[in-house]
Amino acid sequence: MRKPEILSPAGNLEKLKFAIEYGADAVYLGGKLFNLRERAGNFSVEEMAEGIEYAHLRGKRVYVTLNAFARNRDFEELKSYVKEIALLKPDALIVSDLGVLSLVREIAPELDIHISTQANVTNYKVVEILKDLAVKRVVLARELSIPEIAEIKEKVPDVELEVFVHGAMCMAYSGRCLLSDYLAYRASNKGACSQSCRWKYYIVEEKRPGELYEIEEDGKGTYIFNSKDLCALPVLPELVRAGVDSFKIEGRVKSAYYVAVVTDVYRKAVDLLFESPQEFEDFLPFLMGELKKVSHRPYTLGFLVPENEEIKQHYESSSYIRDYQFLAFYNGRSWTVRNRFSVGEEVELFSPGAKVQKTKVKAILLQDSAESIEEVHPNYEVNISFAEPVRVTPYTILRKKKS
Ligand code: SF4
Repeated sequence: MRKPEILSPAGNLEKLKFAIEYGADAVYLGGKLFNLRERAGNFSVEEMAEGIEYAHLRGKRVYVTLNAFARNRDFEELKSYVKEIALLKPDALIVSDLGVLSLVREIAPELDIHISTQANVTNYKVVEILKDLAVKRVVLARELSIPEIAEIKEKVPDVELEVFVHGAMCMAYSGRCLLSDYLAYRASNKGACSQSCRWKYYIVEEKRPGELYEIEEDGKGTYIFNSKDLCALPVLPELVRAGVDSFKIEGRVKSAYYVAVVTDVYRKAVDLLFESPQEFEDFLPFLMGELKKVSHRPYTLGFLVPENEEIKQHYESSSYIRDYQFLAFYNGRSWTVRNRFSVGEEVELFSPGAKVQKTKVKAILLQDSAESIEEVHPNYEVNISFAEPVRVTPYTILRKKKS
């Protein structure tokens, strides 16, 4: 069995570095044009060059998303953009639109092409056609079950399969949702989704316009389209057996903390599965516990397990569960502060590939003046001493349980 790649989101250069330091084999990122995350920081061509160099120096891969659906008017701009990106030698371009695929073939035939989940590939026949088009990899639709994924791999083994294992889900097939465009004039298929599926809705009877009927699942209301978040960790062994080549983590607009923790968990899980499968089973509760320390909605296996009849929507609230707060990270010289904290607080240190360490903040010194302070605020650069001896490495994260 081939060890699947861990593929993490890189919404900006900082998140790219966190993903790689915490064990991603590859990252995916978007430039300023034609990608589907307007709200992610996104990379200028210069930042992309720096990110690709950073990854390649560490033996990691970078895939660039170009997965918006193009209009005729887009192609002139796309041509020069693809030329610019090709010079940076990314490891693949992720496209949805066959017109964009054809353009990339003309301009940069040396680049590998991955087909985005936006293209809704749900069967092996499409994968066969894409193979004829020399597509290297297909990111399958999130609606497929593990047996369906295994069948596609069996029938078209030469095409790599990438499967989402973690993160937010849509209530519609990716690339086919018009809700946000219609209700908020923000096109999800152009990367500007307003998350309209997660709003609160009422029922209106046809002949009584203006009379809103509350849909009340319980006292808090009902969010009928609000999908839970995907978490495939418990079925990772089945996904490996199905022949998945790449495990994709969703979340280019999520925080560096989210990227670090989720990447670390899936890295450890896949390594354990291949080195000591029994340990994977033993470690599963701990790893699930870690995944609950990032901002998330209740987790679901989504459509991966057909016989699983759990409810995939979360009716009570569309808010995220945030039990832990990202306080700071160690940049190699000092701590860069992200959220307020003070001397005496109980904290956890979370480092790449290491065990979580619990301690208390003993003292805080401002980096520039060495002045001792009791409380820090976002963007402070400080030195911290802790109540117990702890091991701190670059990219160590400081977090605390919210009270
Ligand atoms: S509105 Fe909801 S279902 Fe539609 S694209 Fe946005 S997140 Fe997905």
